[in-house]
Amino acid sequence: MSTLEINEKMKDVVIIGGGLAGLLSALQLAREGLSVCVIEKKSFPFHRVCGEYISNEVVPFLQSLGVFPEQLHPTNITQFQLSAVNGKSATLPLDLGGFGISRYNFDLFLYEKAKQAGVTFILNTEVQGVSFHENHFLVSHGVEKTEARLVLGCFGKRSKLDVALNRKFISKRSPYVGVKYHVRTDFPSDLVALHNFEGGYCGVSNVENNITNLCYLVNRDLLRRHGNIAKMETAVLIKNPHLKKLFTESEFLFEKPETINEISFATKEPVQNHMLMIGDAAGMITPLCGNGMAMAIRSSKIASELATRFMVETNYSRQSLENDYTKQWTATFSKRLWFGRQVQKLFGSKLASNMAIKLIVHSPFLAHRIVKGTHGEVF
Ligand SMILES: Cc1cc2nc3c(=O)[nH]c(=O)nc-3n(C[C@H](O)[C@H](O)[C@H](O)COP(=O)(O)OP(=O)(O)OC[C@H]3O[C@@H](n4cnc5c(N)ncnc54)[C@H](O)[C@@H]3O)c2cc1C
Repeated sequence: MSTLEINEKMKDVVIIGGGLAGLLSALQLAREGLSVCVIEKKSFPFHRVCGEYISNEVVPFLQSLGVFPEQLHPTNITQFQLSAVNGKSATLPLDLGGFGISRYNFDLFLYEKAKQAGVTFILNTEVQGVSFHENHFLVSHGVEKTEARLVLGCFGKRSKLDVALNRKFISKRSPYVGVKYHVRTDFPSDLVALHNFEGGYCGVSNVENNITNLCYLVNRDLLRRHGNIAKMETAVLIKNPHLKKLFTESEFLFEKPETINEISFATKEPVQNHMLMIGDAAGMITPLCGNGMAMAIRSSKIASELATRFMVETNYSRQSLENDYTKQWTATFSKRLWFGRQVQKLFGSKLASNMAIKLIVHSPFLAHRIVKGTHGEVF
């Protein structure tokens, strides 16, 4: 007798991962009348390592779906402050701006909306493998397999599934570690700050309920050298006076920080084993651009429109779906990802961060161009 049991009913779409990419794809596809199942490793609500600043480019789209989270009271962010390792800083207005909201509440809100739209969820369940035969998929999780006509890979920046799928980027180690806190402190609600320190940078912005998000990216070697997060923060981060104030004068709301490691900005394939990859699973932009969530949301729109077409039009082939998604994904995001990788090189060292500050002070036009280059347009 086989130890694997196949779920009786074939789903139109199985979505692996319930982050922004997965939840919004699920919502859109279910509203088109498709049967959709999301399989998520964790269970809602939960905190994620994320700066929680979302570019306003997504607002009209979220509003069109009726899921802009007005009732959660997001903050309205219009100013950007950049400080060098020594604390010298410059501030400039943001063209489009953004809003601040915790992933804890925003993801829970979208999960509820997706359930209302008829999406089924299998939570606390990790997908171990996906196979494709005779024009349909088998998704393995635990002792079960779920069958689907289409699978969307929304499993984020790095997953064991990437290893199972033998994706190219996974063999390259990445030096970045992410750390996040929620704190109570005196921080302007219209500001997003990026404070540099030797070996990394820390984003600061407010989310709902007067909570401030502190989220930094740091080189793993630095952490190793100092032994643990607390020692590294005391020895390195607080050399920047802005971070000193935040780390010494705030009330920390988590018992311990949220952390992730091996954050990779390497290029990935937007289609893998016939799955459409969405959000970070297709490619992750450096967090200093504050644009990963907008990309996850926008790629969910592109994928859902094409997936719906594939499901309803008998003469729209799987090959056309995969080609069209690759083309549209590349046209929309590849330049932004490349730009983000170049800008990343400007940060995390004394010299480069000083130069970036000088650039903002002496050439606001160029600084403006850089910020614009890492952001998208309203869609
Ligand atoms: C330090 C840092 C700061 C950031 N700051 C910002 C910011 O301020 N603004 C911004 O726009 N972006 C920011 N980002 C980027 C942003 O967090 C991501 O781009 C965004 O969360 C991507 O959404 P996603 O749905 O693709 O992935 P995720 O939100 O990561 O969701 C993926 C989901 O898949 C699940 N999963 C993984 N593997 C499996 C499996 N095998 N089976 C089942 N489930 C699985 C995970 O549990 C997870 O829930 C930041 C990122 C980092 C690392």
